[in-house]
Amino acid sequence: MSLAIEIVQLLIQSADSWLFEGSRSGLSDREWMALRFLARANRFSRTPTALASFLGTTRSAASQIAAVLQSKGLMVRKPSAEDKRSISLCLTSEGERFLERDPINALRDQLVALELPDQSRLRDTLRRVLDGLDVAQRRHRSDVCSECMFLIESGEGKDRRFKCRLFRKSLAQKDTALLCAYFEGRD
Ligand code: SF4
Repeated sequence: MSLAIEIVQLLIQSADSWLFEGSRSGLSDREWMALRFLARANRFSRTPTALASFLGTTRSAASQIAAVLQSKGLMVRKPSAEDKRSISLCLTSEGERFLERDPINALRDQLVALELPDQSRLRDTLRRVLDGLDVAQRRHRSDVCSECMFLIESGEGKDRRFKCRLFRKSLAQKDTALLCAYFEGRD
């Protein structure tokens, strides 16, 4: 148990990179979280509802955060290509460039400095911990297609194809590494 508590303390100290008072480079921690999510979200998840789910907040609070990003020229609202009745929250090129100032980059750089096998082990371990928390707390989280029960893969090499059973749409391989708010883990 003491080892578990030591790990928890280390996680809490690393959280200073993304949970903070006030603002960094003009954005609050929640606004940074939203900008980061929209930069990595797949085409089904760039919506106010998906953003609210990711932030664990209400749709109206997520819309207010999106409005702040829009007022700073970091994001625009566009009609969704998936559903014309919905809007899509898209980063502008300025928003993409702004991510270079993301306060979480310091932590990312420390992780990049680890050996690749250590990075993979840490990712897999954290994912297992989050899977357990999802069950224990009956919560839902966003994750990538490659870990989702709805992903169908077929073919090999350059004939490899990906399809989402939930949305009944084909996916490009690069899209399978993006975050999805509709992710369901494999049991
Ligand atoms: S396969 Fe899963 S994670 Fe990927 S788009 Fe479909 S629901 Fe989302």
